[in-house]
Amino acid sequence: MTETIEWNNLGFGFIPTDYNVRCTYADGKWGELRTHSDMQINLNIAAAVLHYAQESFEGLKAFRGKDGKVRIFRVDENAKRMQDSCKGIEMPILPVDTFREAVLQAVKLNERFIPPYGSSASLYIRPVLFATTPLVGVKPAVDYEFIVFVSPVGPYFKGGFQATPFMLSRKYDRAAPLGTGMLKVGGNYAAGMKATVTAHDNGYSSMFYLDPKEKKYIDECGAANFFAIKGNTYVTPQSSSILPSITNRSLSELAESLGMTVERRPIAIDELSEFDEAGACGTAAVISPIARIDDVDNNKSYIFSPDGSPGRVCTLLYNKLRAIQRGEEPDTFGWTMEVTL
Ligand SMILES: *Cc1c(COP(=O)(O)O)cnc(C)c1O
Repeated sequence: MTETIEWNNLGFGFIPTDYNVRCTYADGKWGELRTHSDMQINLNIAAAVLHYAQESFEGLKAFRGKDGKVRIFRVDENAKRMQDSCKGIEMPILPVDTFREAVLQAVKLNERFIPPYGSSASLYIRPVLFATTPLVGVKPAVDYEFIVFVSPVGPYFKGGFQATPFMLSRKYDRAAPLGTGMLKVGGNYAAGMKATVTAHDNGYSSMFYLDPKEKKYIDECGAANFFAIKGNTYVTPQSSSILPSITNRSLSELAESLGMTVERRPIAIDELSEFDEAGACGTAAVISPIARIDDVDNNKSYIFSPDGSPGRVCTLLYNKLRAIQRGEEPDTFGWTMEVTL
């Protein structure tokens, strides 16, 4: 099977692998981890996840390094974020150790799917936690399943590291529950599907979301956070309706270590015209440099890269983070966990 994977031609999608790792919550407690080679689940037609989207997911990656070692990037941060999602939608808290162990097992068991060093691909890890209790009334379930599966993936955007146009319109909202913050839970993403399809249909990489209350400040774009470079400053929005991106936090720390100032504050739309560079960031793409943002409601464009070439600081941050993930540079931040195969 792996013989047939062309690592450098891999897109960002799902490829079946050998094993997944599962854990069941019942009678008020989490059980033991189990290994499955079967990719199906047996679910009651009234399972709460199907109706009320009581579900959370995470996304992280493992990389084959220059030294042959396999590293997982910031797994504990994803574990903690899933706990926050659990709290937000009344699901039982999954212990960080259980999350980490399940991820480790899933990576080890599927070692033959970890792309080689030097290819543009990596191993994407997708933990999901969902409610299985049969219910018809809106209330938290009492049974849950946690599953970790993996899939080798190529670059998120086909063109590679290149700046692309993004769309901005006040007509779209992801309906992130105000006050609770944006969580990595199913309902938020279903609410954003129409926006994503609309952006793609119009030739854009992604839709920009504004703050849902005033529609005045930049929130984030698609499934990625927004950041901009203004002189020697890394600016990123402060908002309760954006997903706390681990990549964004890592890039902020990198920027600081390079002597830049980091500002986390509300960013009004008009300020877009003052930025030297702009990017979308997340696990999937690390950084997607933004060529321009078209405010289609007002026929206004904010241009960062007329020719599509990534800016100097975006390129620097992108290369730094990738080098740490692939063991080309020492990880002085303690972000990576080596996998003993
Ligand atoms: C996953 C995600 C991000 C990026 O988070 P990372 O931890 O950097 O992968 C940003 N926004 C949304 C809405 C997301 O789902």
